Amino acid sequence: MQEVHILGAGLSGLAAATILAKAGKKVHVHEVLSDSGARFDGDFQGLENWTSEIDFFDEMENWGLNPSEFKSDAFSIVDLAHPDDVITNPITDGIAFRVVERGTDSHCIDQGLKRMAMESGVEIHYKSKKNPTDCDIIAAGPKNSSAVAFGEIFHTSHKNHVTFQLNDRLAPGAYSYMIIIDGIGLICTCLWRKQRKSSRYLNETIAWYEKFYDLNRKPIKRVGGKGDFGLPSRYRHEGKYYVGEAGGLQDFMWGFGMRYAITSGVFAAKDILGECDYEKEIRKRLVPLVKSSVINRFFMNRMGDRGFKIIANYWMRNQTKTGDGLKFMKRLYSPGIIRKLIWPIAKFSMLKKIKSDDGRTIHRMPFRKSLKRDDWVPSNRAMEIGEEWKNIQKSGGKISFKGE
Ligand SMILES: Cc1cc2nc3c(=O)[nH]c(=O)nc-3n(C[C@H](O)[C@H](O)[C@H](O)COP(=O)(O)OP(=O)(O)OC[C@H]3O[C@@H](n4cnc5c(N)ncnc54)[C@H](O)[C@@H]3O)c2cc1C
Repeated sequence: MQEVHILGAGLSGLAAATILAKAGKKVHVHEVLSDSGARFDGDFQGLENWTSEIDFFDEMENWGLNPSEFKSDAFSIVDLAHPDDVITNPITDGIAFRVVERGTDSHCIDQGLKRMAMESGVEIHYKSKKNPTDCDIIAAGPKNSSAVAFGEIFHTSHKNHVTFQLNDRLAPGAYSYMIIIDGIGLICTCLWRKQRKSSRYLNETIAWYEKFYDLNRKPIKRVGGKGDFGLPSRYRHEGKYYVGEAGGLQDFMWGFGMRYAITSGVFAAKDILGECDYEKEIRKRLVPLVKSSVINRFFMNRMGDRGFKIIANYWMRNQTKTGDGLKFMKRLYSPGIIRKLIWPIAKFSMLKKIKSDDGRTIHRMPFRKSLKRDDWVPSNRAMEIGEEWKNIQKSGGKISFKGE
């Protein structure tokens, strides 16, 4: 293949494009939006360091990708907010994760990867509507919703910080988080059960964070997006490579899909260069992680706050025993005999077999319905926050995602 066409100039597409162009291929990337990162709007995301023993930045460098092309902030400690509002601190000696920004500003990871691609000679065609059948690598991100995340970005005087909260009321079936980097904060709630008004959950989540942290919060905008979780029968189908979320390569438990996206893009490129077999490599490196996350998600779907409290306590006990808070996260993704036994039950009861437009068979996770307990009366402060946001919107505050 002398000329390679890639659909989507996001993380997976640009990683693939860079590797190919560096090896001398003529590469065209076709992106439907006006820029890389335009799907996001300044959201902070965490690049995890727990699904492999190798630090992800070392891995990127080994592949010839330069992580210093974008801004990142490394964290080794977080606040873990339990469902009963107890706050503890998982901590590790190394780097647990790095916070990066998604969007079109030059320090964002999307723009860093875009620069790497262009410097390698890749031609990126923005606002381009290319037919997927004319492309070799499909890197177009999520198509359907299995879950959504909805957040607010604000100015704050609080120092750099990350809180991860397990709370079934504020984030049905999932978690919320707060990330603060250099005076800019993001409070986000993830909804793993479909709700009619996502903003209700966000307002209540913000009210919770305000109560526990001195934020001096000045809202700027509201952001969010969807995640698409599915296990296709093949990652290479009819000559095409499906990478990143377009290939269903996502973390069913928490939604940490960035590392899988970049990794899969790199291996699609390596296959084209004759250096590996993409299907085999993805099945060896990523599918076991995805399957573990499916099983974890299967358990999480059966839990409420009592179950989340047990997880949080177990995490901290594990840290006391091993001396490393990251070991718990690593363990969650390691396949074992119990996971193997549960796998068929989790697959059968949670995933729905579908045929995609391109003829692939996919076991995908549908967006779960809401439960009776998701219907609660908002607090006064949450209602005030909702009103405050309406006024900010009237004076120009942007909302780039309205939820489902
Ligand atoms: C709110 C939110 C928070 C998240 N937080 C985290 C986190 O903390 N950590 C983490 O690891 N992951 C996180 N994720 C998941 C992560 O963003 C994705 O898994 C990752 O971006 C997937 O990369 P990708 O290359 O598959 O898709 P993207 O990076 O989204 O790239 C896909 C590109 O394809 C383009 N495209 C779509 N359709 C077409 C088409 N028909 N033609 C041409 N181009 C097209 C899109 O515009 C986009 O630019 C989060 C996701 C959301 C929504």
